[in-house]
Amino acid sequence: MKVMAQIAMVMNLDKCIGCHTCSVTCKQAWTNREGAEYMWFNNVETRPGVGYPRRWEDQDDWHGGWRRTASGRVVPRLGGRLSTLAKIFANPCLPGMDDYYEPWTYDYDKLLSAPAGQRAVPTARARSQITGRTMDTIEWGPNWDDDLGGSMETLDTDPVLHQMSLRVSKTIEDSFMFHLPRICEHCLNPTCVSVCPSGAMYKRAEDGIVLVDQDRCRGWRMCVSGCPYKKVYFNHETHKAEKCTLCYPRLEVGQPTVCSETCVGRLRYLGVVLYDADRVDWAVSRPDETALYAAQREILLDPHDPEVIGRAAANGVPHSWLVAAQESPVHRLIHDYELALPLHPEYRTLPMVWYIPPLSPVVDAVTASGGDGENHRVLLSALSQMRIPLEYLAGLFTAGDTAPVERSLRRLAAMRSYLRDVFMDAPGDEEIPAAVGMTGQDMEDMYRLLSIAKYDDRFVVPTTHSELPRGLARLEGCPIRGLDDDAFFPTARGKGRHPSIPLQVLR
Ligand code: SF4
Ligand code: SF4
Repeated sequence: MKVMAQIAMVMNLDKCIGCHTCSVTCKQAWTNREGAEYMWFNNVETRPGVGYPRRWEDQDDWHGGWRRTASGRVVPRLGGRLSTLAKIFANPCLPGMDDYYEPWTYDYDKLLSAPAGQRAVPTARARSQITGRTMDTIEWGPNWDDDLGGSMETLDTDPVLHQMSLRVSKTIEDSFMFHLPRICEHCLNPTCVSVCPSGAMYKRAEDGIVLVDQDRCRGWRMCVSGCPYKKVYFNHETHKAEKCTLCYPRLEVGQPTVCSETCVGRLRYLGVVLYDADRVDWAVSRPDETALYAAQREILLDPHDPEVIGRAAANGVPHSWLVAAQESPVHRLIHDYELALPLHPEYRTLPMVWYIPPLSPVVDAVTASGGDGENHRVLLSALSQMRIPLEYLAGLFTAGDTAPVERSLRRLAAMRSYLRDVFMDAPGDEEIPAAVGMTGQDMEDMYRLLSIAKYDDRFVVPTTHSELPRGLARLEGCPIRGLDDDAFFPTARGKGRHPSIPLQVLR
């Protein structure tokens, strides 16, 4: 057992209002520069919809993530070493500007400098940030499906609906939607790192953050294709790859990421999880895709287990990080309450941003259909008739298996039922938590974490130990480079170049 620490995030989709504050503050912090106009390290999608870039989930087109071969090996979909090298001058699996959008701004100066007394009201026309030309019509944007505004056009091409063979009604009375905020997943098994021919992408050993070494990047863009979440971007001014940094300068001093700090819904949680690096290979190579979620949970380790604590200390995990792992809200939501689920585990990258699925307004729906929505028995059995189909959520979070999604939603519904009684000064009905395998105390603890958690409960971020040597996580199965060659890939004790310098230096 090789115990390693990873900073992970959980987002509670029930509380996302799609305000895009996270996207805007992230943009101001990281991508408000030339060449980065179209990049949104954090974006918020309306689902169902095609997202940003368009249809990013269609791996038949983009060839992102990993696939399991007939012999049980897990290899990048993009191809092995030779076929990847053969594509470096003409990579056919890259999204183009049409798939993202042509970024634009407005001629704001026209409003300020227009002379007084004109008969026509001055207007600010749209101007392309790529060509500088005036744009008469805006035909696509990073947020085109917003609040179903554009979804009726694109709904039929949502890859998750296709994957799950689902048809959804387009009438306003039956339609459903929810918001899905997305950042880089800082995967345990990142394809972006493995397919980079220059060795510029790397995963830090001490906290698992995946970064781009700007000095090493040669702009081959294999990382853009290899990432199944399309969370690496190409800067057309610097000709280098860029991606979400998980705000590492903030994390290193114990502060949450900008998107977490500014989230209006207070729905983001940050914390440390411990995992067994020796079992990553096992977890990503499960033959059955629906077993990948359970395998991913299984390699996460109990931070209270004395053996785990001992092995973590032996592997150089600092004591403060062990304490943080024991207090981690993320570990509780993923492991203890089994509420949070990974996004598209079938890509086999072991993503580290997890989601609590949204419980649509099921009480109202049950009541409107003549049932007693306040009765927990009726409520718990009604989840399969939710307005947001379970199958759609399963297509996003559990490779199509509805059982874990239903368990998560049942627990959320049970918590509401149980706490409603408690707040009405009635004794909590223990039958309710028992129906979902929990206790009344669990319900109250879960309620505190999900509903009224304070800043320090949501973000348990230990500071970096700069006195300890840094290193890179050793990844298996790289198709491009020989990972046993320490000249290319220094070990955790800092052999070779110091991996934290230079980090993703943004110009
Ligand atoms: S989500 Fe992030 S870490 Fe995972 S493959 Fe994509 S860029 Fe790499
Ligand atoms: S700031 Fe929070 S609530 Fe607003 S869109 Fe982002 S994740 Fe959702």
